[in-house]
Amino acid sequence: MVSGKKKRRTEEENRKFNQDWTESFGFICNTDGLPTCLICHEKLARNKKSNLEIHCATKHAQFAGKYPTGDARKKAVEELQKTTTVKFHAK
Ligand SMILES: [Zn+2]
Repeated sequence: MVSGKKKRRTEEENRKFNQDWTESFGFICNTDGLPTCLICHEKLARNKKSNLEIHCATKHAQFAGKYPTGDARKKAVEELQKTTTVKFHAK
């Protein structure tokens, strides 16, 4: 009686970069369409929110603690973007 049909959620893995992630986790979308960390410039292999969340929480706990979500975080990310844009556009 047990139906072995398991619905696999692929939507989580096939997502495109979400603009909200910039503000939430300090990531921007690079030319490959993958999330790149504004703080350490590490590129993630997947557009998966949990990956970004983990990265931000483990590698940049200080940043996350210093700038809790909201205006403070938004401003901090904006500043990061200003300084990083140059590098990302210089090709
Ligand atoms: Zn990082």
